[in-house]
Amino acid sequence: MRKKFFLFYAFCASAILCFMGCKGEVVDEYTTHVASFRFDFQYGHTQSYLYPALNSTNYFCFFSTNPIQGGYDLVTEAYGTKEKNVEHITEAVLTKSGRALGLALGLNNGLIVGRSSLQDGELYVFDRQCPNCFNETSQKNYPLKFQSSFNVICDHCKREYGLLNGGVVVAGGKEANEKLLRYRATYSGTYFQISNP
Ligand SMILES: [Zn+2]
Repeated sequence: MRKKFFLFYAFCASAILCFMGCKGEVVDEYTTHVASFRFDFQYGHTQSYLYPALNSTNYFCFFSTNPIQGGYDLVTEAYGTKEKNVEHITEAVLTKSGRALGLALGLNNGLIVGRSSLQDGELYVFDRQCPNCFNETSQKNYPLKFQSSFNVICDHCKREYGLLNGGVVVAGGKEANEKLLRYRATYSGTYFQISNP
């Protein structure tokens, strides 16, 4: 009997390893850079562009935070909007059940959030830094800008990235074409969490 169990587990293990091997691109989907953010919408703040970006498809926003006395400013920006939305948030909004505050918005305090209808509404959290300019220079001062509702562009290298296509280069590509850095994130309907790697 034990031998049968052993064979069963050995089969499962090899099947999992095979799956991981065959789906190597899935393993590489997320960057190893650090991003950490916890936000609880039960405290409100639904005026932030983050809210429609999480609750609808094909709506992307930039977001960053600035420390202020007693908390943070949550700064969000969407394509076609003249002004950034700034919401004052306390540290309580960024924590849950007394968990320690962890706040790191990618390479340089700037992320892109939204869902793609081309990927069944999958939630994407990308770094706002141009990954190719970062690779080439190690500098973190090449923030992307909206080129259209679904594309962002780097002013420095002129690469354009498709937000609906998992962040791949869709125009202006050169020889090295890294796609946007992606971070692991979940959204429960009230609670948004980014935790990477
Ligand atoms: Zn660039």
